[in-house]
Amino acid sequence: MDTTQIALAQRVQQIKPSPTLAVNAKAKALKASGADVLNFSVGEPDFDTPEHVREAGKQAIDAGHTRYTAVPGIIELREAICRRFADDHGWLYTPEQIQVACGGKHGLYNMAQALFNPGDEVLIPTPYWVSYPPIVLLAGATPVLVPLDENDDFDLNPEILRQYVTPRTRAIILNSPSNPTGALFSRKALEAIAEMALERGWVIISDDIYDTITFGNTPLPHILDVDPKLQEQTLVLNGVSKSFAMTGWRIGYTAGPKHIIAAMNKIQSQSTSNPSSVAQYAALAAVTGPQDFPGVMRQAFLPRREYMVNTLRTMPGVTCVQPAGAFYVFPNMASYYGRSFGGKPITGSVDLSEFLLDEALVAVVPGAAFGADQFIRFSFATAMEVIEEGLRRVNTALAKLI
Ligand SMILES: *Cc1c(COP(=O)(O)O)cnc(C)c1O
Repeated sequence: MDTTQIALAQRVQQIKPSPTLAVNAKAKALKASGADVLNFSVGEPDFDTPEHVREAGKQAIDAGHTRYTAVPGIIELREAICRRFADDHGWLYTPEQIQVACGGKHGLYNMAQALFNPGDEVLIPTPYWVSYPPIVLLAGATPVLVPLDENDDFDLNPEILRQYVTPRTRAIILNSPSNPTGALFSRKALEAIAEMALERGWVIISDDIYDTITFGNTPLPHILDVDPKLQEQTLVLNGVSKSFAMTGWRIGYTAGPKHIIAAMNKIQSQSTSNPSSVAQYAALAAVTGPQDFPGVMRQAFLPRREYMVNTLRTMPGVTCVQPAGAFYVFPNMASYYGRSFGGKPITGSVDLSEFLLDEALVAVVPGAAFGADQFIRFSFATAMEVIEEGLRRVNTALAKLI
């Protein structure tokens, strides 16, 4: 028997592997072969997990916190998360309204599995984070992509949103600050979304994973601050991956209505049982300890953001929105599409990214990965010297396209 002929489930044929992880793998392989690759494709802070958090992880091992925990996460962590929401935002939750999962991505997965049926439509503002459409598809539902315009600084235009609403619309996913654009949704946009959601009973999924990494002086507008009634139909997603440089620990959490969290716990109980016990104790130290760490990262990111945006804007034909948060810039480089190098045409963001990797040894993520082919994502979670040298190389390489 030819075992390569074993059939795969249809659901797996609907999706592709994460494109951001793929670029990263190619860049790493080139680097391993000795090439001097500068990597702007990374989706995580270039900081180590803070020492007190690492210590808490080590202590958890020695204290014997190495067994199964409660399915939704240890009670101390869920209580601490409730206190954080109350202190930081004034939002009141009880521990039964919190689920801790194996990263924010897994929280979203649990949510989609617990909420969606075939035929359900989920509104996804686009450019989107790479995992939203596949997670919706794996739940059997339909992603509906709502375009955002760089001329609106990637804010959501309620008039455009309305064109994508149908009687089958069940939910909308908000990500502010956004990966990949770094943009925020304005209070005005959130008010319009709130009105539609209240009228039609949509579930709002608010992915707040970057909410501690913002560069403005005014507080971040949030859907729950528009109308407190929305708490009954909103799932707030957050975690320690970005805010405490803990991507590898795999801890994220969701706050929401009790019956939805209970359904998500059912899914979790039959899949992962619980997130890593050791990582939960480390996350407890992050959530209850000093909260200055995201601010330290923000200070480091600020000059890099300035330099990156300003330098990209000097490149001929490139436009670039100033990101208000997260650690990405998302320049429009479509004016180079239709040109070619050595007879090879550049037809879109995938070709341009490959050209930059081959010609400039600079790894970036094509906008196509985020549903926005005109753009290229550069991460500034990397050293200033790397940014300076990398953008010099990009500029030189772009000039070779004719
Ligand atoms: C990184 C990220 C997450 C969560 O990542 P985890 O590593 O799974 O905690 C969620 N949403 C967005 C937009 C992200 O960029």
